[in-house]
Amino acid sequence: MTDTILDAREADAATLIRRVGLRVTEPRRAVVEALRDKPHSSADAVYREVSTTVPQTSIQSVYNALGDFADAGLVRRIEPAGRPGLFELRVDDNHHHVICTACGAVEDVDCAIGDAPCLTPSDAHGFAVHTAEVTYWGLCPSCAAAASAS
Ligand SMILES: [Zn+2]
Ligand SMILES: [Zn+2]
Repeated sequence: MTDTILDAREADAATLIRRVGLRVTEPRRAVVEALRDKPHSSADAVYREVSTTVPQTSIQSVYNALGDFADAGLVRRIEPAGRPGLFELRVDDNHHHVICTACGAVEDVDCAIGDAPCLTPSDAHGFAVHTAEVTYWGLCPSCAAAASAS
């Protein structure tokens, strides 16, 4: 296994942390594990998860770890309009998200055609575009079923 194919969803948490040049601490490891279990978690949700495995962890150290990870490129932060920022380990693949407007469920959506067609807008206004973030909003299957049942 080489560094370039190290998958954040598979590799050992300590390895991932070291790879981006950060010191491995118990709270940081727990934060990586929490995001692996539950991608697209808010900082508060990560904290709730971490406090079950490393009870002495403060919310501040969770926020710090997430900030350090985001700066180092280990986690991606997505910021759906009007909702708390969400964190995930899946980085650098320009994937998108579909979010339920009723319950807030989030799923990953790969780019539709191989090489990120969303990076080619109808008019880029002369910008050199390097990232496109698309958020699809709608009802998840269970909320849609609940809505049609009532
Ligand atoms: Zn829903
Ligand atoms: Zn995602």
